[in-house]
Amino acid sequence: MLLPSCVHAFREAADSILSVVLAPACAACHEPLDHPTQGPVCARCWRAVLPLTPPVCDRCGDPLPSWRSISLPLALCPRCRRAGRAVDRARAVGAYDGTLRSIVHAIKYDARRSLARPLGQLMRERGADVLASAACAVPVPLHPSRRRTRGFNQAADLARQLGVPVVAALRRVEATRPQTGLPAAQRHRNVRGAFAVTRAGRTLSGSTVVLVDDVSTTGATLEACARVLKACGVAEVRALTAARVVGRVT
Ligand SMILES: [Zn+2]
Ligand SMILES: [Zn+2]
Repeated sequence: MLLPSCVHAFREAADSILSVVLAPACAACHEPLDHPTQGPVCARCWRAVLPLTPPVCDRCGDPLPSWRSISLPLALCPRCRRAGRAVDRARAVGAYDGTLRSIVHAIKYDARRSLARPLGQLMRERGADVLASAACAVPVPLHPSRRRTRGFNQAADLARQLGVPVVAALRRVEATRPQTGLPAAQRHRNVRGAFAVTRAGRTLSGSTVVLVDDVSTTGATLEACARVLKACGVAEVRALTAARVVGRVT
């Protein structure tokens, strides 16, 4: 067995060789990586992934102007106060911009799947309250045709890092148009009827589950998933995403 100091020395040597010979760039900031053996995103970029700071809406996790939360027993954003939601509690690692957006894109569009591990671990850390006492994580599924084209489901990769069992409780029965570029109202319409509960999902009646996805934009996809799970008897549906588009009006 190699001693830890040997492993360290070996890594250092590998890092210097790799950074000179291959000169790989950070998948987020595109600067040359000093420590390529530590993954495709540099330490500086990981440090730049800032959490959404409280106060946040108790239900959807959107940041709240502080004056609002003071006068209310339960701090809810205007959207959550207006409409009932099937997702009981949603949280994200941070806002969908800057470095976090680049990391999510690197996973999804450049197939840098190894990034799902550190990003999923960050979700596990920052979403600890959502994961507490949950029976399982349920990845938001891709339609089989999209899954085939991409070769993997990034939501499932992230869900595997959360320290709870992963249950493929949902399947996508309709190949919807990509939500990107659609206005908020159409996003809800676009995913209505898009999901169905699988046989595995039907065993979750009475339990608390955590939906997992890479990005929540308007929350339309998560809501559609939560509605079918609740219709099947799931008691509580929470959601944990890597990123969240903040302050979008629906
Ligand atoms: Zn970087
Ligand atoms: Zn809210």
